[in-house]
Amino acid sequence: MTYGTDSVNERFRSQRIVLWGVGHTNAHVLRMWGLQRFSDTELVCVSNFPKATYSGMLPGVLAGQYPASAIEIDLVGLCQQNGAQLIVEEVTGVNLAERSLQFRERPPLPFDALSVGIGSVPTTSGVLFAPQAQVLQLKPMQTLSTRLQQTLSAVAANRPASPLRIAIVGGGAAGVEVALCLRRYVKKTFETFAEVCLVHAGEEVLPGVTTGLRQRVQRELDRSGILVHTGRRVVSVEVEYLHCDDGYTIEADVVLWAAGAVGPSILSQLGLPTEERGFLQTDSTLSVCGHPGVFAVGDSGTIQNTTMAKAGVYAVREGPVLWNNLFCHLTGTSMRRYVPQHSFMKLLNFGDGRAAGEWRGFSFEGKWVWWLKNWIDTAFMKKFRVADT
Ligand SMILES: Cc1cc2nc3c(=O)[nH]c(=O)nc-3n(C[C@H](O)[C@H](O)[C@H](O)COP(=O)(O)OP(=O)(O)OC[C@H]3O[C@@H](n4cnc5c(N)ncnc54)[C@H](O)[C@@H]3O)c2cc1C
Repeated sequence: MTYGTDSVNERFRSQRIVLWGVGHTNAHVLRMWGLQRFSDTELVCVSNFPKATYSGMLPGVLAGQYPASAIEIDLVGLCQQNGAQLIVEEVTGVNLAERSLQFRERPPLPFDALSVGIGSVPTTSGVLFAPQAQVLQLKPMQTLSTRLQQTLSAVAANRPASPLRIAIVGGGAAGVEVALCLRRYVKKTFETFAEVCLVHAGEEVLPGVTTGLRQRVQRELDRSGILVHTGRRVVSVEVEYLHCDDGYTIEADVVLWAAGAVGPSILSQLGLPTEERGFLQTDSTLSVCGHPGVFAVGDSGTIQNTTMAKAGVYAVREGPVLWNNLFCHLTGTSMRRYVPQHSFMKLLNFGDGRAAGEWRGFSFEGKWVWWLKNWIDTAFMKKFRVADT
C-alpha cells in the first residue's frame, strides 16, 4: 500500500532518500523533512505497519497507565503532514548494484540514499519451541496488545479460577519492566491474578546498570512476588513448560520472549557487512562500511569498535547526525561523526505510579521518578503527533 499524493516510481525528482523502518532515528528525519526539506529531493518511508510504536511507554500500556494509542505514531498522517510518501509493504532485499529496495508485491524502489532502521528482535537462537506452546514475541510491538489479549483470554478460559502462570524470558530492562507491569494488566483485564516469573541466562538481571539500581529493582520484584531465575538459559519451550540448560523446569501457561537483541534476519541477507549478532556494521558517520549512501541506524546498526547497548536513547541521539549526513551524502560534503555518550539516565517503570532510575552512578526511586519518566516519554511522543486539520 502506498500513501501520498504522487506515484512513487513515476514522479519526477532528481534525488530520493528512502527510510526503511520508521523508528527512533529515521522518525527524526521524517520530522525534520516537514520543517526543512532538501530541494529536488523526495523522501519515501517504507514500513511494515502504517503505525510505529514507542517502546519506552509499552510497559506503561501493560500497567494500564496509558491507552494503547498513546504509544502509536500515525505514519500515514505524519508522512502526509511532512510531505513524504509512505509504502507499507514487505521488503525482500536490496539491489546494491542498482541501488534499489526490492519488495514482494511492488516494483523496486531506486534510492540515492538509504537509511536502514528496522530495529532489532529478541534472540531465539538455540531454543526449541513446540508448535502449540503459547509464546509471545515482543515484536512486532504494533500487535503485542492484541496478541497478549487473545492469548491470555484463551488460557484464562481454560484455567478458570486459577492464576495465570506467565514466564518472561530475558532479564534486561525490557523484560524487567514488562514483568513488573504485566501483573496489573492481568488483574485489570481478567480479574484474576498472575504468577509471574522472570528467567535470565546471566548471573544478575539488568546487566550494565549500577548495583544500586539493581538492588532497588530486585526489592521491587520480591515485593511484587515475581520469582527471578538467574543463571538459567531456556533451551526449549513446550506446552506449559520451559526447560533450562541446568535441567530445571518451569511451569508456565504463557511465555513472553524478551531475550537479548539481535538483528532481524533480513539484515544478514542484504549482502551488506554484519557483525556477530546480525546487525549492520557501520563507521562513525552511520554509513554501512564500504557502502556510501547506505546508512544503518538505531538498533539495526553497530558502529565498529563500539560496545553501546541497543537502546532507544542512542537511536534518538543518532537522528540529528543522520539528518546532517544524508544531506552531506547528497551534496558531496563531509559528514559528521556520531559520538555515543558514555552513559545515560536509565528509568524503569514499576507500573504502580513509581519508577526507579540511575544517573551518573547514583540510583533513586519513587513517585517523582515516574513523574520524570512520564514527562520525558510524553514530550517525545508529542513531537510525532499529527496536527489536527
Ligand atoms: C519493552 C521495551 C522497552 C524499552 N524501553 C526502553 C527505554 O525505556 N529506553 C531506551 O533507551 N530503550 C528502551 N528499549 C529499547 C528500544 O526500544 C530500542 O533500542 C529502540 O526501539 C531502537 O530504535 P530503532 O529505531 O532502532 O528501532 P524501532 O524503534 O524498533 O523501530 C523500527 C521500526 O521499523 C519497523 N520495521 C521492523 N521491521 C521492518 C521491516 N522488515 N520492514 C519495514 N519496517 C520494519 C518497525 O515496525 C518499527 O516501526 C526498550 C525496548 C523494549 C522491547
